[in-house]
Amino acid sequence: FDRADCPPDVEQLGRSSWTLLHSITATYPRNPPVSLQQETRAFVTAFSKLYPCWTCAEDFQAWLKDDRNAPKVSSREEFGRWMCEAHNAVNVKLGKERFDCDRWEERWRTGWKDGRCD
Ligand code: FAD
Repeated sequence: FDRADCPPDVEQLGRSSWTLLHSITATYPRNPPVSLQQETRAFVTAFSKLYPCWTCAEDFQAWLKDDRNAPKVSSREEFGRWMCEAHNAVNVKLGKERFDCDRWEERWRTGWKDGRCD
């Protein structure tokens, strides 16, 4: 029997969700129209309310409420960095290492400069 066919635990859910979220930023336009920027903000808000781990969702909503953490969606570069910072906030809360956000694009879009993903 394959564990992958069971309901996800918090870790699995988290890894899959971050994969989706960072991949969305990796394919986000460099110059998004204002309408898409609005939809993206709405997506982040809805995601924070629907995330299927209630304590995670509550903490993420509280983090988003701080004006300094408002989604930055005016370009791929901004949105990718913002998502990296959001993920780092969770990393810090869980006692994990912070990720170097200068490298978010290598991790999620281009592959590492040393060619290990080629
Ligand atoms: P993950 O944190 O899932 O990361 C996956 C991969 O992303 C890493 O291997 C690394 O290559 C890369 N990465 C790591 N940090 C960054 C970054 N800052 N930017 C870009 N890439 C990065 N779990 C809880 O137990 N409690 C919570 O309250 C909680 N809240 C969450 C809130 C949200 C919105 C989400 C999406 C997840 C939450 N999780 C929470 C899950 C948690 O963040 C992890 O996904 C889970 O613990 C599995 O961790 P991991 O070590 O496998 O790597």
